[in-house]
Amino acid sequence: MGISRRKFIGCLGALALGPAMGIPGTAQGASNKEFAGWPDSQSVLHDITKCIGCRKCESACHRVNHLPDPETSFEDLQVLDQKRRTDADVFTVVNRVDNSLPVFVKTQCNHCLEPACASACFVKALKKTPEGAVVYNEKLCVGCRYCMVACPFNIPAYEYHKALAPRVTKCTMCHPRILEGKRPGCVEDCPAGALISGTRDELLAYAWDRIRTYPERYVSHVYGEHEMGGTSWLYLSGLHFSQVGMREDLGTKSAPELTAGPLSAVPIVVGLWPVLLTGVYAISKRKEKIAELEKQAAVTEAVDQSKKEAQARMETLRKKWDQEKQSAINFEVKKALEDAAAKDPEPGQSKEDE
Ligand code: SF4
Ligand code: SF4
Repeated sequence: MGISRRKFIGCLGALALGPAMGIPGTAQGASNKEFAGWPDSQSVLHDITKCIGCRKCESACHRVNHLPDPETSFEDLQVLDQKRRTDADVFTVVNRVDNSLPVFVKTQCNHCLEPACASACFVKALKKTPEGAVVYNEKLCVGCRYCMVACPFNIPAYEYHKALAPRVTKCTMCHPRILEGKRPGCVEDCPAGALISGTRDELLAYAWDRIRTYPERYVSHVYGEHEMGGTSWLYLSGLHFSQVGMREDLGTKSAPELTAGPLSAVPIVVGLWPVLLTGVYAISKRKEKIAELEKQAAVTEAVDQSKKEAQARMETLRKKWDQEKQSAINFEVKKALEDAAAKDPEPGQSKEDE
């Protein structure tokens, strides 16, 4: 099995660009192929055999993350007929898989133990936390979108519809809730027990116990235990995972481990320059776009200010002109009265008396 383009770019980001830009360890574990994961990190187990396709997890995700309202309500189960994927405003979807009996599969970020997205991100806008979630910092993001290319599960989305400072978006594993000791929103709202959370070790032990106890119900495979070096989302299924639309061609090596052999032999400049130049280009394009928008805003503000100042000047001149006109009229009237008085003396008074 060869290395895909996604994996390759993720690896370049991890090995070549990070150190070259003076960034120590582009993701937790990304520079350490011995990384064994955070022992007490939180995980979620999705038992596909229990999922009833009710979309309560989608609705909970929408509520907890304050996402924009969808076009159709979460009660509308007809959407299950279409193959959907996550997007900028939808962090999780449930899809129905065609089978003799309906099978429902929930999709979201798998919160990899050594995430390819974080490895590819040379400004460390994505990072694996000790709590298990892979989190995103929009303040650091330069909008290069390498994470989208690197993710083997095709998860991160981009807010293309936002003109100013668009973000990369994906499932957060409800990291703020986990920090408060709560369960992720989807887990809390699942009425069928198809989603359970706990530490990764606990869930792996539980999943394998289920497989041993009900061998006729499950395939002997916990998806996510080893895929791409392991993920914090784990899955149990009654069908082979490739039959429910999940990739079984990823192998068990993490993104940084995949690059350790082949790329270490490549002179760094060969791998570095295309990525570096593309990254610099992406940064400069984003800066140019923001500068252009700021310039437009400054020009509009300056024009408005000039208009206001011109109006104020006109108003001052108009008042001054009115005052001067009034003074001139007063002067002329007074002069005319004085002239008239001089020509036409008071009754009983002769001109000689004057
Ligand atoms: S599933 Fe994709 S976006 Fe999520 S942590 Fe893994 S590489 Fe990153
Ligand atoms: S809430 Fe549970 S049962 Fe309902 S669709 Fe989501 S995972 Fe399946």
